[in-house]
Amino acid sequence: MLSQYREIKEKYRDAILLYRLGDFYEMFGNDARDGSRILGLTLTQRQGMPMCGVPHHAAQTYIGRLLKAGRKVALCEQTGVADGKTLTPREVVEVLSPGTVYDQDFLDSGSNNYLMAIGVAHGTCSIGWVDASTGELTFAAFPAADHQQLEGVIAREIARRGPREVLVQESVLEEQGVLQNQSGIVVNRIPDWVFDRERGEQRLQEVLQVASLQGFGFHRDDPALLTAAVLLEYLEENAHRVVGHLHGVTRFHDEDVVALDEATLRNLEILRNMHEGTVDFSLLEVLDETQTPMGARLLRRRLVAPIRSLTKITQRLDQVASLYHNQSLLQDLRRLLPDCHDLERLAGRLGVEKAHPRDIWSIAATIHAAERIRTLLPVHGLAGIFGGEHIPWEALIALRDTIWKTLQDEPPVATDQGGIIRDGFDADLDALRSLHTNSQAILEAYLQEQREETGINTLKVRYNRMLGHFFEVPRSQERNVPEYYIRRQSLAQADRFTTPRLSELEIEINNAGAGAIAREQELFTALRKHVTQCIRELIALAGELGRLDVTATLAGVATRRGYQRPQISENAHVHIREGRHPVVEAHLPAGSFVTNDITVGSDAPPFALITGPNMAGKSTVLRQTALIVLMTQIGSFVPAQEAVIGIADRIYCRVGASDNISRGESTFLVEMNETSNILRNATSQSLVIMDEVGRGTSTQDGLAIARAVCEYLLDTVASRTLFATHYHELTTMDDQRCQFLTMQVLHQDENIHFMKKLITGKADRSYGVDVARMAGLPDRVIQRARDLIEHPIELTASAVPKAVEGIRQPPKLSEPQLFGPEEMVLQEIRNVTPDDLTPRAAIDLLYRWKEDLSRGK
Ligand code: ADP
Repeated sequence: MLSQYREIKEKYRDAILLYRLGDFYEMFGNDARDGSRILGLTLTQRQGMPMCGVPHHAAQTYIGRLLKAGRKVALCEQTGVADGKTLTPREVVEVLSPGTVYDQDFLDSGSNNYLMAIGVAHGTCSIGWVDASTGELTFAAFPAADHQQLEGVIAREIARRGPREVLVQESVLEEQGVLQNQSGIVVNRIPDWVFDRERGEQRLQEVLQVASLQGFGFHRDDPALLTAAVLLEYLEENAHRVVGHLHGVTRFHDEDVVALDEATLRNLEILRNMHEGTVDFSLLEVLDETQTPMGARLLRRRLVAPIRSLTKITQRLDQVASLYHNQSLLQDLRRLLPDCHDLERLAGRLGVEKAHPRDIWSIAATIHAAERIRTLLPVHGLAGIFGGEHIPWEALIALRDTIWKTLQDEPPVATDQGGIIRDGFDADLDALRSLHTNSQAILEAYLQEQREETGINTLKVRYNRMLGHFFEVPRSQERNVPEYYIRRQSLAQADRFTTPRLSELEIEINNAGAGAIAREQELFTALRKHVTQCIRELIALAGELGRLDVTATLAGVATRRGYQRPQISENAHVHIREGRHPVVEAHLPAGSFVTNDITVGSDAPPFALITGPNMAGKSTVLRQTALIVLMTQIGSFVPAQEAVIGIADRIYCRVGASDNISRGESTFLVEMNETSNILRNATSQSLVIMDEVGRGTSTQDGLAIARAVCEYLLDTVASRTLFATHYHELTTMDDQRCQFLTMQVLHQDENIHFMKKLITGKADRSYGVDVARMAGLPDRVIQRARDLIEHPIELTASAVPKAVEGIRQPPKLSEPQLFGPEEMVLQEIRNVTPDDLTPRAAIDLLYRWKEDLSRGK
């Protein structure tokens, strides 16, 4: 058996092979090790091989978990019966991979399930992504002149779309570090020659049954089509699926949306928080009050792709405003929307002939709910916000009625048990059904007759799957059983018999039953075919429902959280009065968030340098500015009393020092990479948020880099920039184009209070010692630090710390020395934050400590 296993496994090396053995799916070897870890199963041994298994009847759940963990699964079934001499024949009947699944059980309703393909040719990176469950298929091309740019594009698109599975051109995979260590994503290596633009164009034309793709926004020889054939063929071959339902083909143009790079997505915590990667404390968490899966997915897509067109943003804002100003309609919508099912995925299953009776019923229910919504709107004079011209309502309503007329209420999922088609819908089915019911009546009469004949009053007709219909006689009546009764089974209390007549009736009943089921299946298949003909209309309706849901959600959130409509302009300008951070505010007690005003661009200088101590609220005000601009450009109201937002082409946000150890890069390198990306790509239309640039190196270096970056942003990029720093020395930079802001600090006796209020001015000092005191450093240390600040003469020239911020070099002290070297080193170890250290700084530190300690001897 294991040799058969090995032979099959050889062909499916990249998948976990579930090998059918009786009632179990077994995993062996490394698959068993991975499987047991992911599924929490106990490992056993078989002929020295690790092994574990899951019961066949519960396999769906386990498969779902393997897919969620980013693994492919190959299902190997028994495909015949053993003849005693040879092994049971087995073969792989299905390969499931995270990016190609359709089954609801394996999908998350609130997010798209993308399969992505990445290829490079002639300095252009082509990326295509498809959600096979909804039929959405998108292609894009991005400039990728050099290695760094390519890496940025790939990292950004992966962060933005969150694919479950990627198909990557072999040569790209060999060069790109970014695709290594992507946990939870299946990465498939695809030979370079499969990436063929012309074949891609042809294949896509075939699928869409068109002679040209220009109507879909593609231009001649469009490089975006490099990935088309790869995606389509992978879907067909690896997932044994048809691709005829792929409908929503679009050409994505980067120029239409705000470019948010990977770091910005992460730092602004748009879809997930930076620390755990969950949705908690993210912008999505605050905004996502959607009520349909289509809406939930659309909101996600909009959040990572804010738009740049003034007309389109205005349209979206107008729609949100119309519901915001019509609260009773908004309430009605929020009551009706939950009745809409996941029409996009229902249509997806229709397209691959996987829709079951309950699915078709849900389609009718959704059309019905949509129809109720549609009739509601004109009453409020808002017919325009839903449906538009392109939804053929009459056809859809006719479809709903056909479904209702054909199907029983709430029909079952399975098609082989009957009970799908409504009585009175089909004369043939009714006849078969009445034959079936009749035979039941005949059976009843026969039982009555037998009771009289045998004198066994307690004689019963019963049914089970194994025996079919049988007579059951209690033990006490055994002597009354006639001779012609044929014994089928003996139980403790009773015996079971059949008779020639009963067997005859049994066949009649079965025939009628089977006939009815077959007829029901025939009728259902015809209905499904009919519904499938309306697939495009259903998909269009799904899109409209998603949009309406997002509009109602944004209006609802604006109402509940007190957001206001922003004004948009084409000037490079941001003016915010009484702005709040949507996420920080949502997690603070009501009313406790301190609002802030900020204006950059137009009349005010475009560059704001914000100084102030840590913990004073700099990061918050910075991020809230970026988030307000982003929210405006997705068409949302914003957390501010007043906001005038000039459309940004890009939003960049570098906040804090975040280590990326998993990729083997030090904090400082990551920081410089992100900074370089901003300096290379930002334009005068961009919004740049920089927080604490230059933290990951020595103070001197850091200060110098921060200064040079400021100057470059001012002179060369000329973007709207908010630059926060705790290097108060930067305020010596004197420039007309620069405004100086600081976080207000109040002194009260010995104590200081951070007011979280942005005011005009410059921080005069960095308040590091005050923050240290708030953090609970011993009084003696605080006092000593204050003395040293007042009498800097005691610090030698080398006292400017060489290591990173956060580790204070032990000052070279004049007599008398307060601490011995051991104490000093210990104290430093307590204070140091290892995560803030570059590997280089760490090793330097270690050498110095050794040196200090040996000096003390
Ligand atoms: P900094 O960047 O100056 O170190 P942060 O912006 O991280 O400071 O803010 C420090 C803490 O103060 C945060 O935990 C935040 O919750 C709180 N905070 C910041 N700004 C405000 C505000 N405007 N109103 C209320 N709390 C705030």
